[in-house]
Amino acid sequence: MTSDTRPKILANLHTHTRRCKHAQGAAADYCQAALAAGVGVLGFSDHAALPDNRWLDVRMHSSELADYCREIDTAREAFPALTVLKGMECDVDPAYEPYYRDELLGRLGFDYLIGAVHWFPYQGQWVGAHSGIRDVERLRAYTAWVIEGMQCDLFAFIAHPDVFGCSYLPWDRDAEACSRDMLQAAADLHMPIEINGYGLRKPVIETPDGRRRSYPLHKFWELAQEYDIEVVITSDAHEPWNVIGNIDEATAMAESCNLRVADLSRLWTKAARGCG
Ligand SMILES: [Zn+2]
Ligand SMILES: [Zn+2]
Repeated sequence: MTSDTRPKILANLHTHTRRCKHAQGAAADYCQAALAAGVGVLGFSDHAALPDNRWLDVRMHSSELADYCREIDTAREAFPALTVLKGMECDVDPAYEPYYRDELLGRLGFDYLIGAVHWFPYQGQWVGAHSGIRDVERLRAYTAWVIEGMQCDLFAFIAHPDVFGCSYLPWDRDAEACSRDMLQAAADLHMPIEINGYGLRKPVIETPDGRRRSYPLHKFWELAQEYDIEVVITSDAHEPWNVIGNIDEATAMAESCNLRVADLSRLWTKAARGCG
């Protein structure tokens, strides 16, 4: 794929802040780093506050939501040369959809939401997607939950669909079949899927097929070229100095797999109109 498929504006739509408890820095720190790196559009997408404060060890409390919004609004005013978007990375669960729609996108005027599966239901329990996919039954339950997220029309894209590679180690028939199910759904539902730069910064792991990244999974993205899908490339920044971390490497991966980058510029043209 030629370089003219690269977005004209350098954008990163996946950025955390210290509020998720496993990232560093405030919104202004990321904005400063983004300007220095030549970024035109920076979208904040910290782990969404949830109305029932579930999974609090990796997200802000619901009482912090107003401060999060204010911090981004203040940064937007302080850095007029940068287009700053207000978003959140939202765990897939249809039970939260009214909150995502009415509260986040509605009342609070978020510019966009990312859908992500960090936990999925399996036999009445919530299983962690990074650590708990140790057999094909859990892999299938994970896959079904990712597809559930793709069916939700509130999300601009789905984060790291291949994160199952952290704990489902072999690339076998089941890994391929589940990957194909996710890719087919992304194509059918016109839902862009993310190649995640944070995974590229994590240590390589041992698997039955040798050492590899936990994610992004090269095998997954190789398969993706058989489907009519679009990708979103992000740094998934957890530190200001990684504001565009590994975006080049993820872009090279997309190019080597002949993948098309989604045009999400409607998110920031809409935000610019909203500021008028
Ligand atoms: Zn995530
Ligand atoms: Zn993230």
